[in-house]
Amino acid sequence: MTAVTALCYGVKAQNIQNNPGSNHGNKFEQLGTILPTPNEYRTASGAPGPKYWQQRADYDIKCELDETNLKLTGSETITYWNNSPNTLTYLWLQLDENQHSSVNNANYQSSSTLPRQLNINAIERAEEMRTDNGYGHQITKISDATTGKALKYTINKTMMRVELPSELKPGQQFKFAISWNYKIADRFKYGGRGGYEYFPEDGNYLFTIAQWYPRLCVYSDFQGWQNHQFTGRGEFALTFGNFKVQMTVPADHVVGSTGECQNYAQVLTPTQLARYTKAQSSKEPIEIVTLEEAKKAEGSKSKSKKTWIFKANNVRDFAWTSSRKFVWDAMPALVEGKKVMCMSFYGKEAYGLYRKYSTKAVAHTIKSYSKFTIPYPYPVAQSVEASNGMEYPMICFNYGRTEKDGSYSEAIKYGMLGVIIHEVGHNFFPMIINSDERQWSWMDEGLNSFVEYLTEELWDNKFPVRGKGPAWAIVDYMKLPKDQLEPIMSNSENIVGFGPNAYTKPATGLNMLRETIMGRELFDYAFREYARRWAFKHPEPADFFRTMEDASGEDLDWFWRGWFYGTDPCDIAIDSVKYYKADANANLRQMGDTVIARKLDRPMGSNNPDVSKDRNREDKNIQFYTDQDTTLRDFYWRYARGMEPIDTTTYQVPIPAFAEPLDEEDKAKVANKFFYEVFFSNKGGLVMPLIVEWTYKDGTKEVDRIPAQVWRLNEQRVTKTFVKDKEVVSVKLDPMRETADIDESNNTWGTMPPPSKFTVFKQKQQVRGQSTGINPMQKAEEKKKGF
Ligand SMILES: [Zn+2]
Repeated sequence: MTAVTALCYGVKAQNIQNNPGSNHGNKFEQLGTILPTPNEYRTASGAPGPKYWQQRADYDIKCELDETNLKLTGSETITYWNNSPNTLTYLWLQLDENQHSSVNNANYQSSSTLPRQLNINAIERAEEMRTDNGYGHQITKISDATTGKALKYTINKTMMRVELPSELKPGQQFKFAISWNYKIADRFKYGGRGGYEYFPEDGNYLFTIAQWYPRLCVYSDFQGWQNHQFTGRGEFALTFGNFKVQMTVPADHVVGSTGECQNYAQVLTPTQLARYTKAQSSKEPIEIVTLEEAKKAEGSKSKSKKTWIFKANNVRDFAWTSSRKFVWDAMPALVEGKKVMCMSFYGKEAYGLYRKYSTKAVAHTIKSYSKFTIPYPYPVAQSVEASNGMEYPMICFNYGRTEKDGSYSEAIKYGMLGVIIHEVGHNFFPMIINSDERQWSWMDEGLNSFVEYLTEELWDNKFPVRGKGPAWAIVDYMKLPKDQLEPIMSNSENIVGFGPNAYTKPATGLNMLRETIMGRELFDYAFREYARRWAFKHPEPADFFRTMEDASGEDLDWFWRGWFYGTDPCDIAIDSVKYYKADANANLRQMGDTVIARKLDRPMGSNNPDVSKDRNREDKNIQFYTDQDTTLRDFYWRYARGMEPIDTTTYQVPIPAFAEPLDEEDKAKVANKFFYEVFFSNKGGLVMPLIVEWTYKDGTKEVDRIPAQVWRLNEQRVTKTFVKDKEVVSVKLDPMRETADIDESNNTWGTMPPPSKFTVFKQKQQVRGQSTGINPMQKAEEKKKGF
């Protein structure tokens, strides 16, 4: 039900026109009912309302990693807080690991083709899918934590409904326990975000443990339970809560995790603990586990176990990694005076890149994002090299390995920096500003890609950013035929061009707003305000759209409509340019000394039928005021009734002198001005500002920026006049390629016509409403005088 609503509003905005068939009244209309109606949970300003609420789920988890059998076994106690105004009779939990299960996998809907060359893994996987492949969450027990009584549950692919033993009323909590286990999948064979990577050279594993525990769905004011299936694409919608997690792993493993470790003293050697203490005030990353130690551990493979204990508060998810291959380094970053431990975990394969860059990229990212959003609120931020790119609170998995000799290409280096900045940046979107990723990919990927771009630009002025910022980089996508495009406001599962739609186009749009449409000051303030308002809450698209306008004073509905709800590209053309010079010596007499006077003799309105007047006149109960009080009657009262003779003479009346020739000073003012009339047309459909570059005869250039609102009264054609001090030789539209114009061949005008002349005169001040002719009262007076 909720999905239908959500999908509809994307479609509606695109297709329903306010003024169909007209050249105006469509693109600049307010979004109105396309946005959800504001209420006391979410206000019209885009801020959370006075009765805003959200649910909470706290987890206490114990688990054990069985490296020999590649299995994870866990038990968890969940405390669920019903902060909603509604009574609940069941809870929905996510079993994301069922993504890999051939019997509980929601991902049947994907089409597939048979390529000419096929990896043997793919054939094995296809074969396994024909029977139960044994993957997915095995639920062994669910019980009420207070009474110990078993709870009924139903699994629907990747979703599980747990029946509450009694109604959970507003303000109440419910504590329950789940025991589970699953077979850990080979991430390189089965895909997905969590799993293991096997290193045949040294016989070791690197585990990335993610989407690993049964966890609560979001129950919200805007859609009730978010229980759409996990197909592997649309990411996650999660509830905030506090976590305590104890993971028992092989004794020689190093664990990196969401949260802060509570027992380093037990799991680290005294030397490592001393290094960790030293790292807390270091200016450079310090190795807590060195490369030599990691290499040594790779060979020994301990059979004993150790338990690491982590705690994390106010997080929406929890992930961790475990391997004996890890080198581990750390240094603090100061974010607005608060110390954040930045740490990295990586194998020898990535040492040449990660040792130098990873922890510093983490520090740069949280500092930069803190400037554009809110100060990073968590105590740690970590980057793990796991040959992928995936984000979790305080920890993320990235790529970037060197050649055997330690060398690397430029592409790998910048790819690594890009992915670390991106995944660490996800701490802000969606880990803290906690949007619903399963519904709206752009709200996390788009916003995050945009700040990633800003952060990369601050890393190095020559950072080779691809997409995610400059408008011209989205042009090839905007040019695609309509059946390969969908609005940014589309459900995650329904997107064809996932990269450009969810990442690049929204990020580019925000950069256009910042650089081209709003300016940095207005944009940055509003964007920060959005982050501030929705930190540790669940924002929806309307909350973003509304806040950006509310905090900046810019009406951006036209932009949301065109860029987020539509697929039209920008293609503005210069159709022609006219060139004028002023003629300051024009003979003003040509402008007409006299005109033939209008025939003013007919009383006003006397020709117009008026049923209301007729009926009033016939109504004997009505007495008109000018009959009650005859002093109200004047010349025109009599005149309208034919009591004054009607004069049919045509008068030659002099035009009052509203114009006079220019004086020398004024002539000088216009003599050296050049006037250009430029005719623009909107061929693409998307409205955008007009950015006009002038090249003068002397070779200099100048740029005029006209806001997009210039298209308000005609969304297809616009004419604009410009006054210049120098003669122009050519005109160019969008010289910095800021509007993603898909056809730049119509953006220039290089042949100037010879100048046409227009007349300039000086206007005398006129009083509004003052007649410029002769009125019937004056005429009647003149008649009396005998003229
Ligand atoms: Zn991302």
